[in-house]
Amino acid sequence: MAPAKIYSNFINGEWLSSASGRTFENVNPANRNELIGLFQKSDAQDVENAVAAAKQAYKSWKNTPPPKRGEILYRTALLLQENKEEFAEAMTREMGKVLEETRGDVQEAIDMTFYMAGEGRRQFGQTTTSELPNKFCMTVRSPIGLCGLITPWNFPIAIPSWKIMPALICGNTVVLKPATDTPLSSYNLVKVLEEAGLPRGVVNMVTGTGGDVGTPLILHNDVRAVSFTGSSEIGRKVSQACAASFKHCCLEMGGKNVIMVLEDANLDLAVEGALWGGFGTTGQRCTATSRVVVHKSVYKDFMDRFVARTRALKVGDGLDAAVQVGPLINEAQRQTVETYVEVGKNEGAKLLCGGERLTGKEYDNGWFYAPTIFGDCDPNMRIAQEEIFGPVVSVIPCDSLGQAMEIGNGVVYGLSSSIYTRNVNNAFTAMREMETGLFYVNAPTIGAETHLPFGGTKQTGNGHREASVAALDFYSEWKSIYVDYSDKLQRAQIDT
Ligand code: NAD
Repeated sequence: MAPAKIYSNFINGEWLSSASGRTFENVNPANRNELIGLFQKSDAQDVENAVAAAKQAYKSWKNTPPPKRGEILYRTALLLQENKEEFAEAMTREMGKVLEETRGDVQEAIDMTFYMAGEGRRQFGQTTTSELPNKFCMTVRSPIGLCGLITPWNFPIAIPSWKIMPALICGNTVVLKPATDTPLSSYNLVKVLEEAGLPRGVVNMVTGTGGDVGTPLILHNDVRAVSFTGSSEIGRKVSQACAASFKHCCLEMGGKNVIMVLEDANLDLAVEGALWGGFGTTGQRCTATSRVVVHKSVYKDFMDRFVARTRALKVGDGLDAAVQVGPLINEAQRQTVETYVEVGKNEGAKLLCGGERLTGKEYDNGWFYAPTIFGDCDPNMRIAQEEIFGPVVSVIPCDSLGQAMEIGNGVVYGLSSSIYTRNVNNAFTAMREMETGLFYVNAPTIGAETHLPFGGTKQTGNGHREASVAALDFYSEWKSIYVDYSDKLQRAQIDT
């Protein structure tokens, strides 16, 4: 067997080994015997070097005209397009989701990169009048400085692109710490940024664990802003660490998303939505549909179809075009799912399908778990309240739209929700009342597009949004400029 490929950190435009010289393994979750490669097990010293490079590069990048920055992003997007198939395949091997979805992941990065390239010519501020004569006022966006970016494994090219592209177009430089389970996809993204001609030090990537790399990055005094996507548990720590030095901090965290199926819903469509939302990416999306609230009058009909379709899902290696559901990311995540399934059974929910590891030749070397549905759930059960992050859907019966919305909103998270109805009054009422950052009508809880703001309310986020023009608001600061051409001292609020 050929020796495993060794991948490096990217610091100051160079591909470097970690200061300690240590590496860690990246394996295929569908086949743990397949070693994808060895990646640098970095520590605080590597973070220090990357931060120093980004700090130096900031001096000229911040004054590079935004349309010029945009040209580099535009070339990056073209290179991503060229390499889409190769990067998608590498991603499926590294994190398990099926090829159709990993192609979508790369496509999301392409969309984001083209979008942000265009923003290079749209960094508009405002001009306005003054309250005083012969005075002119305007606002401009200014970059913040050095940004630390910490990303999860479930969208391993898309999410880094959501952070890197708006950060760069606003004139910031970055240090990226990708998830330990998916460094290859970040490597591929950074490689095309390099190829597109990004000046040295503008983007740096340091691989390793959250404790060894993430912690020194968020604590570093030269880092002015941190953008984190991951669990609420780690997000809280990131937020607390940033508060100590007043770093800007954008948090995108967990979800417990809901589809509401009303009595007048197109049930076939609702079942399609619940299948895609619940079991796409093996339920490992922050926007995954982990709860379905169904009106009692159509409950049996919906469940018969939903359970039958779930049983028929083909689970396996995501590189196989016939496979619809890949493995879980690692053994720890599979154990989390198993624990929740036991919790559900003990709470008295009705296990209708799945609820077990898959075994047999096709499955024994990977972290596979059968798509699972619990019926007759009480909204207060833990399986209906806590994020599981796996192929488990809890279905809850309801009597009315009002009750469905109360159940839907009755969790600590606020990322995504959806309604299936043909009644426009119900749709608009739910649109107004649901306390989530994303809301869908007659579509599942997943499927965000890059030109709309992305993020959640309550314990999902801290008020910022990614993607769209909203992302620029995190990666830049407004500067208000007053130009007095009266040739005399004019005092605002006093010389009235
Ligand atoms: P995680 O919180 O375990 O890890 C996220 C990142 O933080 C990783 O890069 C990890 O190495 C790093 N990290 C861990 N400990 C750290 C520390 N002490 N200091 C600094 N960094 C640290 O999350 P995960 O398992 O990679 O991803 C799954 C979670 O991400 C789920 O909760 C999911 O809902 C959430 N998620 C949210 C969104 C969103 O946009 N809202 C999108 C995708 C995933």
